[in-house]
Amino acid sequence: MSGISEIKCPHCGEWTKWSGHAEETCGKCGQPLDPFRFSREAEKKLGKPKKNRKADFFPIKKTDGPISRELKGFVNAMGWIVFYSEVAFYIGVIAVIAILGFLAG
Ligand SMILES: [Zn+2]
Repeated sequence: MSGISEIKCPHCGEWTKWSGHAEETCGKCGQPLDPFRFSREAEKKLGKPKKNRKADFFPIKKTDGPISRELKGFVNAMGWIVFYSEVAFYIGVIAVIAILGFLAG
């Protein structure tokens, strides 16, 4: 690496100038920059948290047998269908009210 680059400060999270020396300090908060140790962690912390958690009504456990797995999978699927139907219903109601209000007004 050569020249001045920008690095995200591991302490304050601000982007600061960095010319490649690990002992350099942040221009914003004065804390030492240690890009090889911190940049990735800071990126992780400041970045969007990964949401690979599946929101199920009945999470399937490893200890579940094939029948309860099937049942839970079915209930989860139905739950989401009901949920989205409700959302679609409310959106429809709001749309109708808005249209009626627009026509009446
Ligand atoms: Zn800083």
